[in-house]
Amino acid sequence: MTGKMASVRRVAEKRLGSILETIDNVVWSISADTYETLYLNPAAERVYGRSAINFYEDPQLFLNIVHQEDRQWVTEVLPELIEKGSMTLQYRIVRPDGEIRWLEDRMAVARNAKGEPERFDGVATDITERMEHETQLNYLANHDALTDLPNRNLLDDRILQAIAQAHRGRHKFGLLLLDIDRFKNINDGYGHIFGDELLLTVAAQLHKSVRESDTVARLGGDEFVILLSPLNSHEEIYPVVRRLLNNFSLPFTIQGTELYSTISIGIAVFPADGNDMETLLKNADIAMYRTKEMGRNGFQFFEPDMSVHATERLELENALRRAIEREEFVIYYQPQTNVKSGKITSVEALIRWQHPKEGLLSPDRFLKIAEETGLIIPIGAWVLKTACTQAKAWQDAGMPSHRVSVNISAKQFWEGQLVKTVKRVLNETGLSAEDLELEITETVFLRDIDETIRTIHELRAMGIIVSMDDFGTGYSSLTYLRQLPIEKLKIDGSFIHDMTTTTRSSVLLTQIIQLAHAMKLEVVAEGVETEKEYNFLVENKCDVVQGFYFHKPLTPDEIGHLLENKQS
Ligand code: C2E
Ligand code: MG
Ligand code: MG
Repeated sequence: MTGKMASVRRVAEKRLGSILETIDNVVWSISADTYETLYLNPAAERVYGRSAINFYEDPQLFLNIVHQEDRQWVTEVLPELIEKGSMTLQYRIVRPDGEIRWLEDRMAVARNAKGEPERFDGVATDITERMEHETQLNYLANHDALTDLPNRNLLDDRILQAIAQAHRGRHKFGLLLLDIDRFKNINDGYGHIFGDELLLTVAAQLHKSVRESDTVARLGGDEFVILLSPLNSHEEIYPVVRRLLNNFSLPFTIQGTELYSTISIGIAVFPADGNDMETLLKNADIAMYRTKEMGRNGFQFFEPDMSVHATERLELENALRRAIEREEFVIYYQPQTNVKSGKITSVEALIRWQHPKEGLLSPDRFLKIAEETGLIIPIGAWVLKTACTQAKAWQDAGMPSHRVSVNISAKQFWEGQLVKTVKRVLNETGLSAEDLELEITETVFLRDIDETIRTIHELRAMGIIVSMDDFGTGYSSLTYLRQLPIEKLKIDGSFIHDMTTTTRSSVLLTQIIQLAHAMKLEVVAEGVETEKEYNFLVENKCDVVQGFYFHKPLTPDEIGHLLENKQS
């Protein structure tokens, strides 16, 4: 090298050196053999929070300041760097004060004449702010701006995760679609700011009602989704739904205004109701709309026939509307017999529809539609009135005394002004309250247990007997029943048949009867069809039996004859 060239190079190095001294980026160079630091510019001190001397003294320091979670992969990437010659990495470092910074490090391999790696050189840029900005953007892209809940985007991810998880663990998960009832009215009536506050309150309420591991997301508008994952069975959904509906049965205070706001819930369960997110959401939506049709403030599980086209339904619905005025309904009565005395203690009123074209239809053909359309309220009131009139007529004719028992659907219970209607009917027919029984099912108290208890107390105070129907078909447990002031428990027929076929059911049935007795409940076995069933029930001290083994549901005339014969 000539003296002139050397001096040019020194000048260049000096100029370069002064550039490196002043730039913001960290410029570094380490030996490929020993990892000793060969060069570090002043920016390093600002970014790393350590003086350059520390690096010169400790060849490991470069690696040790890398964030624990990034250290391993940064080490492992070295062979690749050597192979490729240059790479850009993004990793975190930890400063002595604990602060974490993101670096983007462009690295290159400098080789000797033989092509062996001699140095690693790099320029590192502090990209912490950019990363924070990205994280923030990411957050915004995945969360709802008003409520801060996960949005549709993030929900999609979570559902995909839940599907993968469910496949691995062979379990289920539930998707609850929730819609605030009459939100539009509230928004229109009280204004958008009020509406927004309600949404915030609802969001907080939903969050409170689920487990930490469950996702509550807002789909937009007044629609929310809860992802319950994992689940072992459908039954695990019930307590959550109950909690949700209970929490929404209390008033919210918004801008000093007390307001009741209820929700309608539709539920789809993976994998039974769909294998992918779209199907699950669609089916939860169908179920949610069904809840709305059924009178809101409740829940429905998705059922395949919900999506069946509506024309058949519509026809039946129209015919059903006309059926009341055309007096096409009739009531059959099925006796309930006391096991000890052998006497008929009451008769259950069971509705039939004398359809002009299709003949005598049983309740399962039309009650669901009646319930969904609200027609059950006038129909139910008609049954109550007709049954009470009939019972009074039997009494007046001097028949042996027995009660009449009337089934009350959930909708009737909640929206049919039940207590008022019952009082009116008793007044009009002259039947005394002691001669009336009402049968409710668990769908009633699932909606609002406290209000259910209050209503039953009111009925009992009048002298009416309230019984729990279809016990064993749903999800209610005896402990749940403990809270209800009922007097009678009707065990469903399906349960009675099972008991003669499996030991497990027979043990269960025995225990249920014992527990019910301990709770001072009278036990009725429904659907008793065989002698074997009857004998078992007698042995186990069941109080009352009802079923084809004794009597089918009978017309009023047939009942009249039966009672007359019993009397004589
Ligand atoms: P439920 O209240 O549990 O009534 C008992 C049902 O079991 C009746 O069916 C009855 O005919 C049937 N059953 C009685 N003994 C036997 C038996 O030994 N074997 C079998 N397999 N079945 C037996 P039905 O009359 O078809 O009524 C079905 C359901 O419809 C009733 O179940 C009740 O939940 C509802 N329902 C009937 N009438 C009314 C009504 O006026 N209002 C309301 N809301 N619901 C009603
Ligand atoms: Mg019944
Ligand atoms: Mg029943």
